[in-house]
Amino acid sequence: QILGTSCSSSGAFISVARAFSSSTTPIKATLFPGDGIGPEIAESVKQVFTAADVAIEWDEHYVSTEVDPRTNSFLTWESLQSVLDNKVGLKGPMATPIGKGHRSLNLTLRKELNLYANVRPCYSLPGYKTRYDDVDLITIRENTEGEYSGLEHQVVKGVVESIKIITRKASMRVAEYAFLYAKTHGRKKVSAIHKANIMQKTDGLFLQCCDEVAKKYPEIYYEKVVIDNCCMMLVKNPALFDVLVMPNLYGDIISDLCAGLVGGLGLTPSCNIGEDGIALAEAVHGSAPDIAGKNLANPTALLLSGVMMLRHLKLNKQAEQIHSAIINTIAEGKYRTADLGGTSTTTDFTKAICDHL
Ligand code: NAD
Repeated sequence: QILGTSCSSSGAFISVARAFSSSTTPIKATLFPGDGIGPEIAESVKQVFTAADVAIEWDEHYVSTEVDPRTNSFLTWESLQSVLDNKVGLKGPMATPIGKGHRSLNLTLRKELNLYANVRPCYSLPGYKTRYDDVDLITIRENTEGEYSGLEHQVVKGVVESIKIITRKASMRVAEYAFLYAKTHGRKKVSAIHKANIMQKTDGLFLQCCDEVAKKYPEIYYEKVVIDNCCMMLVKNPALFDVLVMPNLYGDIISDLCAGLVGGLGLTPSCNIGEDGIALAEAVHGSAPDIAGKNLANPTALLLSGVMMLRHLKLNKQAEQIHSAIINTIAEGKYRTADLGGTSTTTDFTKAICDHL
């Protein structure tokens, strides 16, 4: 139910949608529908949340068509401010325009909001058969540095340089988060993924920090796994892993590999954790331009990201209700999107989930 649409001073559209019963005080959350399939799957989330009577009031922000000089990207200052104010939000995928001389939207969000850890759960869905039926792992990706520092330049003609930055501060912060996550979620093991045999200084420092934090958690089994070996082990037997913590680029790659173990990118959610208690949930996948606007996208990953957001807000009853409705709809098999071998549209699949609530 869209209650109002207005145009902010920056020209970005802000609309506020409601998904709560009139008797409950709603929690305000920022919603970025994003690009490509983003608006279609964001609509699906709004419909499911409304059907589940979730006490969320969406503060909806679109990517601007002009670069905002205050963010040096297409992300408006007002939309950043909305996340800072609300402290919680859900983000659709944002396309990264290549070579336009301004900052990537995703990078801007991570840097400006200090979203230092990206938590990516990946588990086998009951009733949806893949090669494995026992995947249950969490990738925790350092989200602010590594190869994503944006420091790239040409040294001389034919030679370019890209600088990987690893700091003790960011590595300690993400390692602390990973071990605390393992402890509070009853997980038994943390694997630090690295290539410190080659990247001795950068990955070496990352590992040193993980070693240091691991000493404070003697009850959690800690191991170090070289990334190439990790890929082989994941494909051979994903049940070997529990919580994995790693630098930025490795996390980006490994979490897509993990998505492939359970049925693809349409299924895997994530949540970005920032300092000051900010949580911005988003699907692992991108804007899928090949299927955008065709009512074919699988909204599950964004819906499950919404479930992560609800758990963060301690709205556990609705989180479990929506989670079960998604799982049951997929398990039943009557309504599935094309990426899961079905013929349903995004709209029909969403309606089926609402009917399962
Ligand atoms: P992608 O994840 O958008 O798509 C990869 C493949 O997976 C495509 O075949 C696509 O159709 C499919 N797919 C992805 N999500 C799906 C869904 N929900 N349902 C069904 N199929 C789905 O990756 P890409 O094509 O490499 O990237 C497209 C754009 O998205 C790029 O501009 C990239 O920079 C951006 N991107 C953004 C984010 C983000 O916002 N966090 C993440 C990754 C990529």
